[in-house]
Amino acid sequence: PTREEITYFGAGPASLPTTVLQNASSAILNFQNTGLGLAEHSHRSALSNDILAATENSLRSLLSIPEDYAVLFMQGGGTTQFSAVAYNLLGYWVQTQLNKANGDIEVVREKLKKAKMDYVVTGGWSQKGSEEAKRLFGDGIVNVVTDSKKGFGEYCGIEEEKKWKRTAGEDNVFTYYCDNETVDGVEFPGFPKSLEGGVVAADMSSNILSRRVDVSKFHIIFAGAQKNIGTTGLTIVILKSAILQTQPTPATLRALYLPIPPIMMSYPILAKNNSLYNTLPIFDVWIAGEVMKELVAAGGLAKQEDVANRKAGKIYAAVARAPGIFKVVPLEGARSRMNICVRAQPAELEGVFLKGAEERGLLGLKGHRSVGGIRISNCMPCFTSLFSCILWLTWKPADNSIT
Ligand code: PLP
Repeated sequence: PTREEITYFGAGPASLPTTVLQNASSAILNFQNTGLGLAEHSHRSALSNDILAATENSLRSLLSIPEDYAVLFMQGGGTTQFSAVAYNLLGYWVQTQLNKANGDIEVVREKLKKAKMDYVVTGGWSQKGSEEAKRLFGDGIVNVVTDSKKGFGEYCGIEEEKKWKRTAGEDNVFTYYCDNETVDGVEFPGFPKSLEGGVVAADMSSNILSRRVDVSKFHIIFAGAQKNIGTTGLTIVILKSAILQTQPTPATLRALYLPIPPIMMSYPILAKNNSLYNTLPIFDVWIAGEVMKELVAAGGLAKQEDVANRKAGKIYAAVARAPGIFKVVPLEGARSRMNICVRAQPAELEGVFLKGAEERGLLGLKGHRSVGGIRISNCMPCFTSLFSCILWLTWKPADNSIT
């Protein structure tokens, strides 16, 4: 099967390489002449195990994942990880404190009163993560280290780290941030220096595989697959193995009046079962593996980083050439290479512009429903022609386009 080369700028689900989709269309019908489509094969078959292993190996090689890190394949999207990260990292903290206190539960109960989960809120997704932690564990344990909306009036930047109100020492359960805020177009230029050496979890749903990352700086990295890796239905979690080994029993959690994680959010249980505690969508794992194979063959993440930087640079430059019409929302220094968020002036032009873009076959440019505007997504597996995007940005409204 074939289709026209499309020009799609959606943030996610994002467009996938045509070759992967073509192979997928025959894989779903009859996988490697087995007579069964890949979505029909058992997740416990040797074939599925090979797919899991190959996908994990490609991910390990792309991100140079250290040996003392585990990789989990999960479902439930990034949103499930908002809960899973908090459950598992609180468990890790509790058991670490309990070990230090030679098992004295009273000592940990006292320490819990001062414990804080630090959230760096730079956009809608980290905000949602912090809200989920509050919902599960109460407002008192969540410390919003910085809130860009308060600092800047909207999610358009990252406050200087020296202004962050971090929790010091062992009272800090973990620090959480979102590396790339897909809705707001705000991306961290690199690992925040003040978080070095701490227990850090990062949501990389929309910029994973777009640049090199020092995995050893993180305790957890997670990403829903549907933006930079593959299809919706798969979530990838990379985590320090110590988290798996250092967890309290349900009885300990009960004694501390803490909730017990639902079984599908328990990282140790999933890891023990090679991500197959329940039925995993192997088809989605295979797609992710195929995309990763392409990225490896194309030169790995050094290459992807270069491509992403150049593509984003060109788009921002094209926007800057039309200052009377377009305005980039995020401030310089925090501008995403993946999701370029732009407003047109006057605001009515946005509708005219989006309609014109659609008529020219340039799709998926509407900003997220919560913020509006225009969003040009530059997701990694999407090989949408940059040329057409630049051409489109030279668009000028006709004098009679607003009535
Ligand atoms: N985190 C980020 C950065 C996202 O962009 C999204 C979705 O767009 C999510 C989390 C939520 O992901 P999901 O819809 O897979 O739960």
